[in-house]
Amino acid sequence: MSKRVLIIGAGGVGNVVVKKCAMLPEIFGTIMLASRTLSKCDKIADEIGGNRVQTAQVDADNVPELVALIKGFKPDLVVNVALPYQDLPIMDACLETGVHYLDTANYEPKDVAKFEYSWQWAYQERFREKGIMALLGCGFDPGVTGVFTAYANKHHFDEMHYLDIVDCNAGDHGKAFATNFNPEINIREITQKGKYYENGQWIEVDALSIHKPIEYPHVGPRESYLLYHEELESLVKNFPSLRRARFWMTFGQQYITHLNVLQNVGMTRIDPVMYKGIAVIPLEFLKAVLPEPSTLGENYTGQTSIGCQIKGVKNGTDRTYFVYNNCHHAECFREVGAQGVAYTTGVPAMIGAALMLTNPEWMHPGVYNVEELNPDPFMDMLNKHGLPWHEQFDIELPHDYK
Ligand code: NDP
Repeated sequence: MSKRVLIIGAGGVGNVVVKKCAMLPEIFGTIMLASRTLSKCDKIADEIGGNRVQTAQVDADNVPELVALIKGFKPDLVVNVALPYQDLPIMDACLETGVHYLDTANYEPKDVAKFEYSWQWAYQERFREKGIMALLGCGFDPGVTGVFTAYANKHHFDEMHYLDIVDCNAGDHGKAFATNFNPEINIREITQKGKYYENGQWIEVDALSIHKPIEYPHVGPRESYLLYHEELESLVKNFPSLRRARFWMTFGQQYITHLNVLQNVGMTRIDPVMYKGIAVIPLEFLKAVLPEPSTLGENYTGQTSIGCQIKGVKNGTDRTYFVYNNCHHAECFREVGAQGVAYTTGVPAMIGAALMLTNPEWMHPGVYNVEELNPDPFMDMLNKHGLPWHEQFDIELPHDYK
């Protein structure tokens, strides 16, 4: 029986989730897109056509407003692709109305650039008691990187020891400086201290201070920077055999130079600054003058390449394993009018939603990260819905594995 899904957030990622869900009427029979700006919802719904998608205006920081919307539309599942700030109010509204929940980024308070799962994991008992499920971090990273790791663990290792998540955007959008997803969230993530996990401890390093060239398939070597990324927290918890887990992301020199200047002049600050009697948060103002990520797709060339490089043991022998996806920006634009970063996030969100609604293995009351569920049907759907993956075994991994 087809289901009802409410998608919140009509940005770059929301556009992809809605369009991919609309392609699967046998699963997503009735779709509503709600966001802060109604015209953005209407534009996406018009592009899909055929009255396939209903739209609504909602302030997702406001729980009573969300509850009223959910009670009116009666969805089976709410997909949250607004911003991380809205995770808790949307989870509260789902609890109040007894509706399943999915998101792609963990909660972050507005006034501290700090993201961790503790706030959302604290909903575990309440979701379980209510008989509803929350699936956290179901984009690409976090998301597919967790599914890749679970798949590696299930099929290719007796014990995993070293994990490196390698994320390359070798695309060119032609702008001097722009971020590929929400600028505020993106810049908060990159300018905070780097952190990785080793031998049971978290090691903190200065922002962007560790970097080296990493070889990406069909791209070549790209300078990659060690960042803290949220899936590291859940992956080391769910795969305790991991001795080390790190996350690397590529940035071009032009991007780093712009970021340094913006930081040096105070434009990435998240505390209010008084300007002509008005309290202005510099990073929020910066977001307002940067290109919207959803508009970058049109002339975007090149591809993304994201994967997991793992070293461990199988049948008593050391082994290395690399699983990755490459995704071309131009193909994403042709299919759904989006750039690759929005596409690689939105497709897994649609897949997670589809599995929750149709596959009993993917429906358990409580709060889960993607790697806690059977990776096989997810991997199968990635191949069918636009994000095919590839594997390499026993290759020389380019990292300093001990
Ligand atoms: P955008 O900024 O393009 O879109 C966010 C949308 O949410 C906007 O349409 C915005 O509305 C809406 N919104 C913001 N606040 C509210 C609110 N209070 N009530 C209702 N709607 C609101 O962001 P992206 O699409 O790039 O990112 C969406 C999410 O995906 C983010 O949480 C991001 O962190 C996550 N992400 C996850 C990735 C992964 O791989 N896991 C990768 C990339 C992104 P308006 O336009 O009116 O401001």
